[in-house]
Amino acid sequence: MNILERFNETDALLEGHFVLSSGLHSPRYLQCALALQDPANAAEFGRLIAERFFGQQFDAVASPAIGGLVIGFATAQSLGVRFIWTERENGAMKLRRGFSVKNGERILVVEDVITTGGSTRECIAALESRGARVAAAASIVDRSNGVADVGVPRISLVSLDVPSYKPEECPLCEAGIEAIKPGSRTVAAK
Ligand SMILES: [Zn+2]
Repeated sequence: MNILERFNETDALLEGHFVLSSGLHSPRYLQCALALQDPANAAEFGRLIAERFFGQQFDAVASPAIGGLVIGFATAQSLGVRFIWTERENGAMKLRRGFSVKNGERILVVEDVITTGGSTRECIAALESRGARVAAAASIVDRSNGVADVGVPRISLVSLDVPSYKPEECPLCEAGIEAIKPGSRTVAAK
């Protein structure tokens, strides 16, 4: 399966000139959730991640909410293990909802997109502070050019460069190309 094709079909990846929610401009817009709204895509991506760990045993998959929830669930389903997640409480990433881990349990942490690796690292720290052992991490997309270090071996299904510019330094603005806010009617009507 061509992952980028699935992204294109669902408008999860757009090419052009975009104003991101951060206010920065980019020639690409990536919104993984749009690809994952089709359960068949989510199941397939989860299966592909699980395949990359063929021969390894995990006791659970864990994800940082919200971005990791759908793909984490799909990966856990494919591996046949339970799925738990961490979420923020007063800014700190924690296991809540009565989720627990046993001492030494071997966990795979799954996220949708890795940019700096920050939320994956926080998720790993939360699990390890409770005695679990995070053996590996995975994401559908790597936006870090492979450099994000989460402290454990890490894989991703696809690597994508999404450059961003301050509006005043944007080469697309300079070229006089109109900037679009993704999710606007213009994009939806395409
Ligand atoms: Zn621009």
